[in-house]
Amino acid sequence: MGDASPNEDIQLLQVSALKMAALAIVITGPKGTILWANRAFTKLSGYPLEEAVGRNMSILKSGVMPPYFYEGMWSTISSGEVWIDELVNRRKDGSHYVEEMTITPIQDEKGVIHHYIAFKQDISSRRNIVEELRQNLKVQEERYNALERARSETRAVLDATSEAFLLLSMDSKFMWVNRAFERFFAVIEEDLIGRDLKEMLPHFGRVFDNPSGLLSRLIEASNYEDPSSRENVVQRWPRIRNIEVYSTLVRNDLDEELGILCVFRDVSREREVERMQSEFVALVSHELRTPLTSIEGYVDMLLDGDAGGLNKLQLDFLNVVKRNSDRLTTLVSDLLDVSRIESGSIKLRWETFDIKDLIKDVVGNLRSQFEAKGQRLSVDLRGGGSNVSGDVGRITQVFTNLLTNANKYTPEGGAVRVSSRRGDRRIEISIADTGIGLSSEDQARLFTKFFRSDDPSIRAIGGSGLGLWLSRSLVEMHGGEISFTSEVGKGSTFTVRLPLET
Ligand code: ADP
Repeated sequence: MGDASPNEDIQLLQVSALKMAALAIVITGPKGTILWANRAFTKLSGYPLEEAVGRNMSILKSGVMPPYFYEGMWSTISSGEVWIDELVNRRKDGSHYVEEMTITPIQDEKGVIHHYIAFKQDISSRRNIVEELRQNLKVQEERYNALERARSETRAVLDATSEAFLLLSMDSKFMWVNRAFERFFAVIEEDLIGRDLKEMLPHFGRVFDNPSGLLSRLIEASNYEDPSSRENVVQRWPRIRNIEVYSTLVRNDLDEELGILCVFRDVSREREVERMQSEFVALVSHELRTPLTSIEGYVDMLLDGDAGGLNKLQLDFLNVVKRNSDRLTTLVSDLLDVSRIESGSIKLRWETFDIKDLIKDVVGNLRSQFEAKGQRLSVDLRGGGSNVSGDVGRITQVFTNLLTNANKYTPEGGAVRVSSRRGDRRIEISIADTGIGLSSEDQARLFTKFFRSDDPSIRAIGGSGLGLWLSRSLVEMHGGEISFTSEVGKGSTFTVRLPLET
């Protein structure tokens, strides 16, 4: 090397650089016959130099590229232009790989191509990464689109509801409101989002009487998620409305608290209907009661013989009239009670009395009804003092209803047992029957107004479906509660718990 000229040195260095290059380099003749290739080519294709030389570049053809691909390539390079593209080739061992190839034609001074130099690079892994990234992006995009769709669907639904929603952050900032909220309170979402509740209090001062009190109660109530903590408030501005308000904590899947959702429902119409219904019931009840009292009075006088003796047929007919007017009287007085309870105008006459004595009286009054159906009625009232405080008439009404039900909904020959259990501060009175019982669907609706089982055998028995609703309301007014257990075909037990006088 010592006597080589500097130019020869450079040439030698260039050749060894080409040999060592990481990029595969192949020199072919004008028809594609391989004349020389470097080591990277062997690494890439699996063909050692001695095996490759003399063979055509087409040994690398994978068979997966369409013929027009090669036609395009040849027409480019044979016209003297550089060709760059990606293609799938095949290694000596038959495996495929993706290659980026640049072919440069080498021309003499007349423009005749005498060689081609091809630079080749395996880009399978690059392609894989790009492909993976592209796939990943697609999945993320789809996920995002699905989320966006779900978000706008939820938004559309929440905007379409008539209830106003407000989502507050845990530190009392407006996070989100729906369209109904904007309409209800004459606000615009953009003006609220991110602002502190306190900042908006002057605005809500026009809407509600004591907005800060209401909002702090709502925030407090959201901790309990107790449906009974729903509050009724009057909205003054921009319209007068009766509003039912409640709140609930919103959590994410990880149970982290996201905020407090406050819901405002316009119940003006419901309240109006309730008021009209109560007024109507009160009016109708009074109008019915007066003529009924008169009918009952005259029927009683006729039955007593005050208008002269009656024959058996006449007596039978009069008894039918009496039974039906009794039913009507009960219905009318039940309706009146319902409207009194609903309007809050019911008055209880408070006194202290012994509940066991009261029950014995009720049982005594109804005994003939049980005998008429051949039912065994047993009473087992044990234990010490049983003084309770309340309205004797109303508590009598409760036990009369429960015992009448036990009698009505127990077939002939059944048994009804009245028992008591004295607790520390309360007394428990149970009425257990061996009657028809209640299905689980009926049990769920038992204490609703006008509920009567759909069972045709029950429909045949007279009743209004108001007795249990009234009984529960009355017991609760006395600070007590009423519960039941029941099994179809086996019977039911209704239990009343009342606070004892201490
Ligand atoms: P009513 O007896 O006038 O229909 P209630 O409110 O007292 O009204 O009872 C409502 C309904 O509950 C009844 O129609 C009946 O279907 C059912 N029910 C009440 N008590 C019993 C009972 N002891 N056994 C079975 N079903 C009962």
